[in-house]
Amino acid sequence: MVNKLSGTVLIHGDGHLAKSSGGGVAPSISVSTTFRALNPEDIVTGAVANGDLRNPLTHVYSRYTQPVRTRTEQILSRINDGYALTYSSGLAASYAALIFYQPKRIAITGGYHGCHATIEVYRKSRGVNLEVIDLDAAYKPGDLCWLETPLNPTGEARDIQHYADKVHKVGGKLLIDSTFAPPPLQYPFKFGADCILHSGTKYFGGHSDLLSGVLVVKALDDWTKLHHDRTFLGSIMGSLESWLLLRSLRTLHLRVPRQSASATTLAQWLDAVANTLVGHTFDGVPGGVVSKVWHSSLQPRDACGFDPRQQMEGGWNATFAILLSSSEHATQFPHLLQYFVPATSLGGVESLVEHRLQSDPGADPRLIRLSIGVEEVEDLKADLRQALQKLQHVKSKL
Ligand SMILES: *Cc1c(COP(=O)(O)O)cnc(C)c1O
Repeated sequence: MVNKLSGTVLIHGDGHLAKSSGGGVAPSISVSTTFRALNPEDIVTGAVANGDLRNPLTHVYSRYTQPVRTRTEQILSRINDGYALTYSSGLAASYAALIFYQPKRIAITGGYHGCHATIEVYRKSRGVNLEVIDLDAAYKPGDLCWLETPLNPTGEARDIQHYADKVHKVGGKLLIDSTFAPPPLQYPFKFGADCILHSGTKYFGGHSDLLSGVLVVKALDDWTKLHHDRTFLGSIMGSLESWLLLRSLRTLHLRVPRQSASATTLAQWLDAVANTLVGHTFDGVPGGVVSKVWHSSLQPRDACGFDPRQQMEGGWNATFAILLSSSEHATQFPHLLQYFVPATSLGGVESLVEHRLQSDPGADPRLIRLSIGVEEVEDLKADLRQALQKLQHVKSKL
């Protein structure tokens, strides 16, 4: 069954928390770090305190809870079908997950290089050997499987259920970095994930103007432990970021499906370009300039029968990659585009183009990552077309 990302939940999911805010239709930015202490008499009568950290009637200190962040987490919990907690960045959330699971071994292969660097920091903090193994190696009890899907930078999907079964057989846990596929594209809990990680900086934030991270777990007990750790790690999402994120979530269901549909159109079009022989043209673009396109929509069923279509029930990812014919072309390409902004990151309303080597030293020097925004898809296609046409005149070293 297709989970519809509910616009009603996105707009009204925090309504019960809005009542006490003085009648403003939009939330106010709450900058107070500290909150008026309760009258002991009120506490005794139970009139104000309810002890529920997810739904506090009053706040104490903003490292624990504050009004706008609590509202944002309510919405994130509802749309992710679990208990969500926010962090100061995606990598702060990654670190919190490592502290929470305390793995002795982590199975991870490829994906966002920053998560690998965070795992290195965790290794240092433990002062013991942390073993990092390949996703497809044999697992032992207590392993943490860290699966990113769709995968940065190519946007290819990996089989969540396969890794869930594999790691659960030895009593380990499965974390899914689902940054590339926010709701409604994919719901990792349906395929056995224990924890979902998002860089909220990307699609949830959606406007390239806030840093945040999100962890979602299935049990309130786990959420409470994560909340305790976060309070004392201090990796809290800031006041302005909380407000910006809440504001952005109101339109998640309008942005992401549109970005997904446009990306799919463009990936298919670019794939047709990649399949055009040198000396021929496709839709005005000469064959040979694009060597390869990666996108989950182009991914065949794998040998184990994994069909990404079932996992990505709400549409394909809106960030994907192409391979140009030379590194000189890849260096020039971002600067030949008019609407795509040459910049790293992804998920915003504005389309971005990145020569991936510039931020990931391990990347193929010919690889270009595209993050599709909410512009008109025909304008984006025309922009790609004119830039690919110009590449013919950029000299490549032989
Ligand atoms: C950006 C990103 C992160 C890190 O998030 P920040 O908010 O930049 O800390 C983690 N995983 C993936 C897949 C990302 O794209």
